[in-house]
Amino acid sequence: MTSKQKIIIAIDGYSSSGKSTIAKAIAKHLGYKYIDSGAMYRAVTLYALQNNLVDIHHHHVNEEKLKSLLDEININFRFNPEKNRQETYLNQENVEDEIRKMEVSNAVSIVSKLKFVREKMVRIQQKMGKEKGIVMDGRDIGTVVFPDAEIKIFMNANAEVRAERRYKELKENNVDVSYEEILENVKKRDHLDETRKESPLKKAKDAIELNNSNMTEKEQLQWILSLIHERMN
Ligand code: C5P
Repeated sequence: MTSKQKIIIAIDGYSSSGKSTIAKAIAKHLGYKYIDSGAMYRAVTLYALQNNLVDIHHHHVNEEKLKSLLDEININFRFNPEKNRQETYLNQENVEDEIRKMEVSNAVSIVSKLKFVREKMVRIQQKMGKEKGIVMDGRDIGTVVFPDAEIKIFMNANAEVRAERRYKELKENNVDVSYEEILENVKKRDHLDETRKESPLKKAKDAIELNNSNMTEKEQLQWILSLIHERMN
């Protein structure tokens, strides 16, 4: 493999384990495309909430209705130069801030476990990676979406460290939420994501584990870049 050859980098792991921060940094460094697959599941969830298809108290989704509306859901990403970030669009509307709110975080795992939702998302994701030169983060990228990805990383950190990171991030974006609420959400989502039937969160056999509880962003980037260098030469 030469360094000119474009590859696929799959980054999976637990909620708020810092996947997107590091995925973005690698994509920037290599001039690759970055795709946040979690944002896609969040966007479908927002759509389901807007259409009153989720009963969060009973952990219930109106599957039949959601399935019938699936073709109406259009998700894509656009770069916003003013905020220097990629933003998620649901049916041409910018929903980047909306999909990070607790209402969506609390419902996303019961929507993302639905087989027909996953099938649609995976199809779109595989299309995005057709030309390679992509870094994608999520839960099933190395196992289901790109089982042949050249580099697979599985990230983890203590739940408390992850909740603390998420808390800081949300506070910076002025989201009104408590640390305890986030810790509970992080743990609950991990459990649901790990135990679901369809594409549960699990480390691919050939993924390399990165526990970043005690690592800075710079150290993580260095670690991944040297791994890529090793593999590509
Ligand atoms: O990555 P993020 O925490 O934003 O993902 C939100 C949720 O989307 C996860 O808790 C999980 O339920 C779902 N997800 C998934 N498969 C992916 C990415 C996210 O099921 N590839």
